[in-house]
Amino acid sequence: MRTLPLGVRIVALVVPLALLPIAFVGGMAYYYLEDAIRAEATTRELQMLDDGLDLVNASLDQAARVAEAVATLLGGASQDAGGGERPQPEEAAIAPSVQLSFTLSPSVHRIAILRAGASPIVLGTRTAARPAADNPMNLPAFDRLAAPGRLAAGTGGTFTVFVLHPVERGRRLAQVAVEVDARWLRGALADMARAAGGVFFVVDDEGRVLVGSDDATTAHLGRLQAALSRRAVPGPMPLPPDEGNGSDVYYGAQLGEFRRAGAAGTVTLYLVRRTQRGALIDRIADLRSTAALLSGAALAMGLVGAGLIARTVVHPLNALLGMTGRIAGGHFDVRLKKGRDDEIGRLVDAFNGMAASLETFRDRLVDAESFAAIGRVSSTLAHEVRNPLNAMRGCVDYLRLKRPDDPVVTHHAGIIAEEIAELDRFVRDFLRVARVERPVLGPVDLHALLESRLQLHEAASLASHVKTTRDFAATRSVIPVDAQQMAMVFENLINNAIEAMPGGGTLSVSTADGPLSLRVEVRDTGLGIAPELTGRVGTPFFTTKAGGTGLGLAISRRVVEAHGGRLWFETRHGAGAVFQVELPHESVGAGESA
Ligand code: ADP
Repeated sequence: MRTLPLGVRIVALVVPLALLPIAFVGGMAYYYLEDAIRAEATTRELQMLDDGLDLVNASLDQAARVAEAVATLLGGASQDAGGGERPQPEEAAIAPSVQLSFTLSPSVHRIAILRAGASPIVLGTRTAARPAADNPMNLPAFDRLAAPGRLAAGTGGTFTVFVLHPVERGRRLAQVAVEVDARWLRGALADMARAAGGVFFVVDDEGRVLVGSDDATTAHLGRLQAALSRRAVPGPMPLPPDEGNGSDVYYGAQLGEFRRAGAAGTVTLYLVRRTQRGALIDRIADLRSTAALLSGAALAMGLVGAGLIARTVVHPLNALLGMTGRIAGGHFDVRLKKGRDDEIGRLVDAFNGMAASLETFRDRLVDAESFAAIGRVSSTLAHEVRNPLNAMRGCVDYLRLKRPDDPVVTHHAGIIAEEIAELDRFVRDFLRVARVERPVLGPVDLHALLESRLQLHEAASLASHVKTTRDFAATRSVIPVDAQQMAMVFENLINNAIEAMPGGGTLSVSTADGPLSLRVEVRDTGLGIAPELTGRVGTPFFTTKAGGTGLGLAISRRVVEAHGGRLWFETRHGAGAVFQVELPHESVGAGESA
């Protein structure tokens, strides 16, 4: 199976790795934040309901206090008036003409005295109109005195709460009934609704609305009723948001237990707030879009990050791969640009270092092989070529001697003699390579040696219009070298420089101190070396010259290395070349002078 490119594999690996935590964190945040929003909304609702309950209960307490005060007053007045035995029947003691003077608090609608089997006596009312005489308190079938406590009566928006308090006069004769003002209660609920939003209403445990902040509260109460009957919760009861009709949310809190007016048993009343689900949904929708936005941003960042990783990792790796291919193909001169300081940069460094080592190793190997081959053929050359050459030279000399006046002989003998001399020079160079011997070191003044080599080439320089400059700046010029071998090295470098400037130029020879060495620089302003040839310059038999042997640099490098030094060059095609030789101040491993 074909494997995917590395970049694609990295992206495929990084993206899910990045997405997994994003999805996890996003999901958790989403889940918990939504929960938190719901909880916070519920808490707020319950707080509002609590405030509402406080308000209603405060008015009921107020009514109870009024009832208590009136009962005490009536009981005391009656006792004072009676003075001893209690009169019979009891009703007679409380005459409709009793005049009481008190101020009704805003939540109290009416105050009356209830008597068994007789009409209530209304003591005061906040409304102008007096209630109907037959049943002024609108208490259905209230023909017996009810037990003291809170009494709820009425349906369909006529919610009335009575707070009953017994009038004590030896034994209970009557009750003081304080009617809480349903309109005041409605007004209070409306105020709350205005301040908090939504609709407030009081319902009984069958879901009937007794009083509400507006008249449109009866809608959807079927569901509310079902919810109330399912959940007999004693305390504040948040109705879950999904109990509404889809857009309404109900929250309920228990107002308390009341006795039913005219019926047996008790009724539990609830204060309920109906609110729009909208705000909650909006907040959750906001949360959703924020979470989606964040996830999208995280995904985009993940993708960009993965892309960057792929780019920053894959790009240099591909370059390294290409480099390995070129090295495998024998091109040891390739180098990568570093450009960064991280692991990849170090890898590039290591690769470049390895390529450089391979190149040096290859060069040495090539040199060693070439030199070994040269060594092998040198003795053959010495005998099989040089001896016949000597013989041929002897014959030519003999011919010239015998036929000095024959122009044909002289002409051809001259040509043969030149060819023999050329061949002889080649053999001599060749043998010199073969016989690069262990240098015999002795103290030599390199400056003097260089000067003598320059003078040797003065004629050639002049002929080629080459100007020569020297800058012998090294402070220590006397070092242990093999004078003969080193003379040959510099002669070769100077000669090459002059030959590289056929149209004239400047030859500069300089020296400088290295850390533990002497540096010699031979610089020319000549043709330079073409980039494709730089790798071959200095290998045995490489030459670009018509009559060149290609051995000069190879021998020179061998000699310098035998001295424990280095020979290298820098060049720019068309802009000259600089050949540098570095020789140690102290001999390292080379043979000392005998
Ligand atoms: P040869 O001089 O016989 O060619 P060398 O080993 O001395 O042998 O030089 C090898 C080749 O290196 C030369 O043929 C030439 O192409 C190149 N070379 C050497 N020195 C220089 C230089 N200073 N400028 C340009 N090319 C040079």
